[in-house]
Amino acid sequence: MKLEGRCMKCKEAREMKDLKIEKTTRGTFMARGTCVKCGTRMAKILSAEQAKQLGK
Ligand SMILES: [Zn+2]
Repeated sequence: MKLEGRCMKCKEAREMKDLKIEKTTRGTFMARGTCVKCGTRMAKILSAEQAKQLGK
């Protein structure tokens, strides 16, 4: 599954690569990855449902 986030450097929505799903201490999920275009690190807050679909 692919995930898009907003890249701060491109200032556009970009697909994220090297996705890692993390659970925060507050029980919410975050996706971390890098922009496919420029390699800038990106983070996106996920719903529990999205996190499940992404496989963790
Ligand atoms: Zn970018």
